[in-house]
Amino acid sequence: MQNIVFVHVHKPFTLASTLICISVLQLLIILEPFLWKKKGVSDDDTQESVGGFFQRHFGQEVVDYLIDPFVAFTRCGYPESLSMRHSFPDLWNMEKRFGSVISGAIKSKLSAKKEKSGQTKGSVEKGKRQRGSFSFHGGMQTLTDTLCNQLGTDELKLNSKVLSLSYSHDGKSAFENWCVSSAAKDDKHSQSLSVDAVVMTAPLCNVKEMNITKRGTLFPLDFFPEVTYVPVSVIITTFKKEDVKRPLEGFGVLVPSKEQKNGLKTLDRAPSGLHLYTTFVGGSQNKELAKASTDELKKIVTSDIRHWLGAEGEPTSVNHYHWSKACPLYGHNYDSVIEAIEKMEKNLPGFFYAGNHRGGLSVDNAIASGCKAAELVIAYLESPPDEKTRQE
Ligand SMILES: Cc1cc2nc3c(=O)[nH]c(=O)nc-3n(C[C@H](O)[C@H](O)[C@H](O)COP(=O)(O)OP(=O)(O)OC[C@H]3O[C@@H](n4cnc5c(N)ncnc54)[C@H](O)[C@@H]3O)c2cc1C
Repeated sequence: MQNIVFVHVHKPFTLASTLICISVLQLLIILEPFLWKKKGVSDDDTQESVGGFFQRHFGQEVVDYLIDPFVAFTRCGYPESLSMRHSFPDLWNMEKRFGSVISGAIKSKLSAKKEKSGQTKGSVEKGKRQRGSFSFHGGMQTLTDTLCNQLGTDELKLNSKVLSLSYSHDGKSAFENWCVSSAAKDDKHSQSLSVDAVVMTAPLCNVKEMNITKRGTLFPLDFFPEVTYVPVSVIITTFKKEDVKRPLEGFGVLVPSKEQKNGLKTLDRAPSGLHLYTTFVGGSQNKELAKASTDELKKIVTSDIRHWLGAEGEPTSVNHYHWSKACPLYGHNYDSVIEAIEKMEKNLPGFFYAGNHRGGLSVDNAIASGCKAAELVIAYLESPPDEKTRQE
């Protein structure tokens, strides 16, 4: 059941209305190939919102009860506040290719199967990419610890802040043109490192604070538009198993905004004898609530867990983590953010940008973005010297 997210519509005890509502949603999804509407001629092609796109394909009920809670959880925004092109590029392109997204998904799956059966066994194994969720024993820290061990701590400067970057090609060598200056935590003295190329993965709001120079002249980043960040608070509560009357029958609960003003998203990740709930509060729907105190959030979250899951009494433990800038919002102006990143890369030879500000918010998207940047760095380093500096 790990990958299933249950979307509860209406109150848990109104089972009949829930089933009717789910059947209507299923019907709307099945009928999409026949009922989806093309964009109007005057509609701005690149600016369409996630809400607008799914409304055209599946209707407003699907937007309200499936898309709204899903994007609030995975993209931290309202369906209307997010750019479809940047939030769901695969579906966006699928419409361009096939029209209906359901027919497109079926056709893509069939052609992928056909392609697979035409390949030799060895190449199938090589190209096989398992879909689904992944995690690590010991949590996400395991991933960075493993990377750290592979590289060796001598090669890394941990707990350090990059203060400045300077590019100074002297015309003699095409290598070591970048100087990165950083300061370790609690150390006033900065250290410098000469490198051939830079892959920047810090959030853009932090990049803007860095002093970047090109051949001794400041490289201003004033062409960057304002990136909107959304805050999130995570409240982790545990309840004794016997105190929860309606334990989750799936991975979590996503509550549509129409059903619940706090827009809570709760996941159950339980150690034995307890139900452990990770509740996300915030996103663009609830910016103010994300900033509330632990006591206030504990009260709201506990009351909701009582309401939705039938928990009784007080939680046995409560932990609160707050992210003031949890993730960038892929809003309607996001085209201009991507254009600015590309401009920065174009004007700074050997500088590449990766991470969740480009190509998707999730960990797997961020890793894919890093791999892409690594390939670009290799191509850059292997390119002839005159090509490396052609932007100058
Ligand atoms: C509460 C929460 C829950 C999430 N849950 C999931 C989930 O279940 N699944 C999923 O796929 N995704 C999840 N995400 C999203 C995912 O964690 C992020 O999108 C992903 O970690 C982004 O990786 P990144 O490397 O691009 O950026 P970040 O992880 O933000 O890393 C950027 C790093 O740059 C560093 N930095 C900034 N300035 C400087 C500087 N001057 N010098 C040096 N370093 C600097 C920062 O300290 C930070 O460590 C979640 C996000 C949040 C906030």
